[in-house]
Amino acid sequence: MPLLFRKVKELRNHLHTLRCERNASLGFVPTMGYLHEGHRALMERARLQNDITVVSIYVNPTQFGEGEDYERYPRDLERDMAVCEEAGIDVVFAPTDKEVYPPGSRTEVYVRELSEVLEGKFRPGHFKGVATVVTKLLNAVQPDRAYFGEKDYQQLKLIQRLVKDLLIPVEIVPVETVREPDGLAYSSRNVYLSPEERESALSIYRAFLLAQEMINQGERSSDTIKGEMERFILSHPHVKKIDYIEITDPDLNPKGLVDRGDRILVALWVGSSRLIDNWKVL
Ligand code: AMP
Repeated sequence: MPLLFRKVKELRNHLHTLRCERNASLGFVPTMGYLHEGHRALMERARLQNDITVVSIYVNPTQFGEGEDYERYPRDLERDMAVCEEAGIDVVFAPTDKEVYPPGSRTEVYVRELSEVLEGKFRPGHFKGVATVVTKLLNAVQPDRAYFGEKDYQQLKLIQRLVKDLLIPVEIVPVETVREPDGLAYSSRNVYLSPEERESALSIYRAFLLAQEMINQGERSSDTIKGEMERFILSHPHVKKIDYIEITDPDLNPKGLVDRGDRILVALWVGSSRLIDNWKVL
């Protein structure tokens, strides 16, 4: 079993010993738990590239807005520990709220502009919560490398910006999105979906394939592609609402004409669940 720490001080003491005595390199995978194959890919990459791998499991309250799914977000530390053991993880850090937000906390981290577009428009304050907690976790663990999934593409770009701006000495390693065999991106939130809703959720991936096919046929207009994707996705019965379909360059600047390497980003509601996904144009 991996060693489980709940307190920053104890985690630090342990990691300090490993780093100094064994001169070990440290890989870090921050998560909100309820681990799945997507997380597994991050852990495997971290294991390959480092001597010691630390996984954090923390459902961060400040990145959830009012009325969002903080309370119902799935949690199962026992199961997560078993997944970490199987993945060969050395250390699990599952801090309490008081450890992450010491009483009287007043400091936040805000990444200008990147926090306001796309997800930021629909989830005010979300990325301030993300930037703040990731900064704290990086300070607690002080890893050589930290692993983030492309599934949350805007989050990945924001973290890359943040460590540059704050001179945090860590290498951010992006990991490609892992999908179920039928194309649905793994997400802890997929447990919310009924079988019928899951079928409708698959429209996201199929819309990416549709867009890619249009691009392969020579279509370059973002508006035309987005229009077709929207029409296709909305033809699925359990899709309640599309928050956005956007086509951007790799740095999240909107594009009128699509090129290889651009990103198609989607956020939508299926039943009462909000799902996000993105696609790198081939
Ligand atoms: P979460 O627990 O949802 O906060 O995710 C923790 C990390 O796992 C983040 O860096 C996510 O981008 C990454 N992640 C989540 N789902 C996937 C997936 N399907 N494929 C790759 N990475 C993922």
